[in-house]
Amino acid sequence: MSRPSRDRQEWEVRASALARNTHNLIRNIVENLRVEPNPEKPFLALSVGDPTTFGNLNPPEQVLDAVRESIEWTKSRGYGPALGHMEARQAVAEYSAHQGDVTPEDVILCSGCSHAIEMVIAVLADSGQNVLVPRPGFMIYKTLAEGLGIEIKYYNLLPDQQWKVDLDDLESQIDDDTALIVVINPSNPCGSVYSEEHLLEILDIAARNRVPILADEIYEFFVFSGHKFTAISSLSKDVPVLTCSGLTKRFLVPGWRMGWVIVHDRNNILGQEIRKGLVNFAGRILGPNTLIQRALPAILRNTPQSFYDEVVLFIENQAKLAYEELRRAPGLRPIMPQGAMYMMIEIKMSLFPQFKTELQFVERMVSEQSVFCLPGQCFDYPNFMRIVLTAPEDILREACSRIVVFCTENIVSDKIKEIDNVVSVSAENELCEGLSRTA
Ligand SMILES: *Cc1c(COP(=O)(O)O)cnc(C)c1O
Repeated sequence: MSRPSRDRQEWEVRASALARNTHNLIRNIVENLRVEPNPEKPFLALSVGDPTTFGNLNPPEQVLDAVRESIEWTKSRGYGPALGHMEARQAVAEYSAHQGDVTPEDVILCSGCSHAIEMVIAVLADSGQNVLVPRPGFMIYKTLAEGLGIEIKYYNLLPDQQWKVDLDDLESQIDDDTALIVVINPSNPCGSVYSEEHLLEILDIAARNRVPILADEIYEFFVFSGHKFTAISSLSKDVPVLTCSGLTKRFLVPGWRMGWVIVHDRNNILGQEIRKGLVNFAGRILGPNTLIQRALPAILRNTPQSFYDEVVLFIENQAKLAYEELRRAPGLRPIMPQGAMYMMIEIKMSLFPQFKTELQFVERMVSEQSVFCLPGQCFDYPNFMRIVLTAPEDILREACSRIVVFCTENIVSDKIKEIDNVVSVSAENELCEGLSRTA
């Protein structure tokens, strides 16, 4: 039924509710920074979660060759099936064998991992429902859900326990409208890696409360020595797990926009309706990039283990370097990561009373030292900042030593007496150590 045409006297074109309610928190905060770097010092940004930023980390030749070959293949120019070419889905299924039994039919190719996340959220949650997300957490979840009228509810991670999930808090957040629990492992922004035991505890809560899991495993295998990555799907007996991953971080190609969802549903709880929903949703973009799809089997099969090992070892060494340097910064408490490519650093704000928030702290650090770290606000987690560990060694070292200088110059000296009351036991020695060195 068409409405009678109204007499349009004026142009009146409005943005949709979806457009108006979609926000990228990180971009909003970063673009509204009101400070200029110190012109005497080159600007060093430890804020960008893109491993290609500094040009020091590159994919191996096998990966580049695979794409060079793909461009010659006529089918890599045409549309592919909505879920992706079967050869590519087969290759992802083999590559993902660590997740449990995966058949090509369980694999849906997407335009990056964030598109995979969007599909899962949009297929499993309706407007008015909620999705449980870790705090501190990766903000794309908020961006994707809120526009759709889906509420984000947080469950807390515990900074004093290597960012494990606060299990009681997680369970208490679940209500009748909870459509999904998001588990990010290894974690952005924390760099934590969960043990099998801890993953089983999370699965137990999901099973008891009958809530499916979205496993964001874009940092799969990205773990430092002494730690082991376990796919949560491999441990699930009954909880449906939708795992989102892709090439972006491990292969150092965020711009290629190749990700995937893998459906793990051993007991057929999701049924055909959810799978059909995913197929329907995949049709919205007429399938992901076929140039990269064609290259995918060679990328996943030919990349040598030595490439993966070298990248992770580099990041691990950068983590150690940053941790050792920043432990010396009075008023900071870096938390050593176990994987991924980030480190969270607590700022003891009571020792810097001239700054009301950590945003003011990082802004002043830009204007004095030309070093930029992402404020905790970007993860809905005040009093912390996040640094990326992918920067080359000389840049990371220089940035850390400027952070130490900044803290030394800005910490309030008459607060030193109060430190014992303020600082947690574990950080106390480090802080005093830092102060005595700066005194
Ligand atoms: C980078 C990142 C993504 C998004 O990856 P794309 O493939 O670039 O969309 C998703 N989740 C986490 C935790 C990330 O850090």
